[in-house]
Amino acid sequence: MGLIRLIILGIVVYLVWQLIKRWQNKPSSRVSHTRDKRIDGSMARCDYCGLFVPKDEAIEANGRHYCSEAHRLADGKDQ
Ligand SMILES: [Zn+2]
Repeated sequence: MGLIRLIILGIVVYLVWQLIKRWQNKPSSRVSHTRDKRIDGSMARCDYCGLFVPKDEAIEANGRHYCSEAHRLADGKDQ
């Protein structure tokens, strides 16, 4: 039983150490994370070609988003 307890203790110490390492790295990686979130919140995916375009530039029709007027018309023709 002693060996198992030692292994468990080792795993716990390793996890805590990884947590501390990740916690210490947070300030440097925070910039990219917030940037990704900003893009997720303001980008729309074209339902025709899958291209991501800013929501204020995307063309919206029938609850769908398009990167350009041409793709809105092309998608409408398919249906
Ligand atoms: Zn498109």
